[in-house]
Amino acid sequence: MCAIVCGASLTYAIAWASALWSPYTRRVRPTVLEKYIGIGQEHHHAFGFHVRTTRGSRGFSEMGYWHFKEWSGHYDSTFTAGWPTQAVTSDVRAYHAEPLGPALQGLDLPVGILLTRGYPTDRLPAFLHAQPRRRLPLIPAWPGFLVSTVFYAILTLALWLTASNARRWLRTRRDCCPSCGYSLAGLRSNSCPECGSDTYSVNASVGRD
Ligand SMILES: [Zn+2]
Repeated sequence: MCAIVCGASLTYAIAWASALWSPYTRRVRPTVLEKYIGIGQEHHHAFGFHVRTTRGSRGFSEMGYWHFKEWSGHYDSTFTAGWPTQAVTSDVRAYHAEPLGPALQGLDLPVGILLTRGYPTDRLPAFLHAQPRRRLPLIPAWPGFLVSTVFYAILTLALWLTASNARRWLRTRRDCCPSCGYSLAGLRSNSCPECGSDTYSVNASVGRD
């Protein structure tokens, strides 16, 4: 349970760090359509962060083919963050309370839409030096979030087991109880007087009976 919580926290931490600071490494060039009539998709890739920006598709999908001519500068953007899988996502598109009403902005938006949009990095404090024009994604993206959580949970467990085994080994070497670290020097008993745990392996390793 603790490992799962650690895994989920690490998933968010890595995703947010990537969203905040990871510099772009690759950009997919705009399509011919994008170049000449302003319709198309752009992709930006950074380590653990990916942006897909669509221009004009809203006109096609919701208002009909002709509407793209009235495109008013809206971009639909999807941000995904996380490593090794894309684990959290942010989706930004114009939101209309009524089909042909004005697009809502800022805190007028419903809470669900606000959460889906994530937090703009431009509004974070300057000392964070966050990458501009990005979003801090808040919503888990399945199944990537699950895969990433399990990945970091296993990593956490492995580290914890390694650390605790190393500690037991060190305590045994120093002639101490592997469970609690109480010094067993000069003791002949096979159980620790401090915590009562079995210390036979310690006694055996230092040649006592
Ligand atoms: Zn003990």
